[in-house]
Amino acid sequence: MPGRNFLFVPGPTNIPERIRRAMDVPLEDHRRSDYPSITLPLFEDLKKVFRTRTGKVFIFPSSGTGGWEAAITNTLSPGDKVLQARFGQFSLLWADLCVRLGLDTQIEDVEWGEGVPLDRYRAILAADKSHAIKAVLVTHNETATGVTSDVHGVRRILDDLKHPALLYVDGVSSIGCLDFRMEEWGVDLAVAGSQKGFMLPTGLGIVGVSQKALEARKTAQMRRCYFDFDDQLRMNEGGWFPYTPAMTLIHGLRESLNMLFEEGLENVYARHHRYAEATRRAVAAWGLKLCARDPACYSDTVSAILVPEGFDSTAVVNTAYQRYNLSLGLGLNKVAGKVFRIGHLGDLNELMILSAIAGTEMVLRDVGIMVDAGSGTAAAQEYLRATHPASQGAEGLRKTA
Ligand SMILES: *Cc1c(COP(=O)(O)O)cnc(C)c1O
Repeated sequence: MPGRNFLFVPGPTNIPERIRRAMDVPLEDHRRSDYPSITLPLFEDLKKVFRTRTGKVFIFPSSGTGGWEAAITNTLSPGDKVLQARFGQFSLLWADLCVRLGLDTQIEDVEWGEGVPLDRYRAILAADKSHAIKAVLVTHNETATGVTSDVHGVRRILDDLKHPALLYVDGVSSIGCLDFRMEEWGVDLAVAGSQKGFMLPTGLGIVGVSQKALEARKTAQMRRCYFDFDDQLRMNEGGWFPYTPAMTLIHGLRESLNMLFEEGLENVYARHHRYAEATRRAVAAWGLKLCARDPACYSDTVSAILVPEGFDSTAVVNTAYQRYNLSLGLGLNKVAGKVFRIGHLGDLNELMILSAIAGTEMVLRDVGIMVDAGSGTAAAQEYLRATHPASQGAEGLRKTA
């Protein structure tokens, strides 16, 4: 098929040419004497992305799911009580991981389309006078439903109640794209993966750990070996790893961090917001609705869009791929057939986001959802023009010309 695939699933995301080239290197000796000159600055720079000064960031050769397991097994003991709200496929899977690892998992079911239920968390934690709950989990950005939760709000509740539970955050589809402040929000364990905001191939689980969580590992009795923080701590100190690191990805990570810092994290967040908002304008112009209920929780990295009653969102995704080589995200689990997703995270610019919107618009009509041709594209175009960082200047130029 001529042309290229348009990748708009919410991870894996597009790998920038710069990162691809940075990874096109021969394999090397990971014990060579100057290897730490690559790794030591990486650990420091990752802390800037996680926004922690006092914490540590570990790099595991795994996907994000391995990061979940690392966070849990290093800091808890068998039978410990953990609290997790389930409102999408990713919060569901993290809760399931806790159950399967033998934790006493209190799962709070929430409508898919809503976020972490602050009031319920407060009531549950307030009632937990004996501090039986050791871990409070929050899926910051639920990638299945396009909902971003209030992590800072959960921290405030813990602080108000003087509850000592550790705060665990799944930031796989948020860290590096959305405002995330590990230290300011008092996050104890923060999990990211390489194939979303970091614009890399799958293969790194990146875990931020607070000093409090590092302390907790000393008494945590869960079995762990491959993901043991102790081994990482000891070896990372000198710039080494306890086993062969994913060296190719580490070169990519260096370039990824260079790109994020060159753009500036605040600008990265602002860009994600603009593309998300452009997508939402298109959805509104089509007369469709998002799965996310409350505008305050709309995700800036992924939009899950409901198809009207009687239509199958799987047909939207399959048709997009088969006819136009456009990859959209399927609806997962409870929302299978009901939503399709446009991932708008990572290495994107205006015309790329418009390609996804234009393609989606064609597909919707192809499957019989007769949105007005051009309506979503026009709404997004005008929003992107009006909010372009240079648009003020452009208006000025035209006036004086
Ligand atoms: C993608 C994703 C994961 C899973 O990560 P894998 O790299 O597929 O293991 C976990 N949580 C969220 C929020 C995600 O978006």
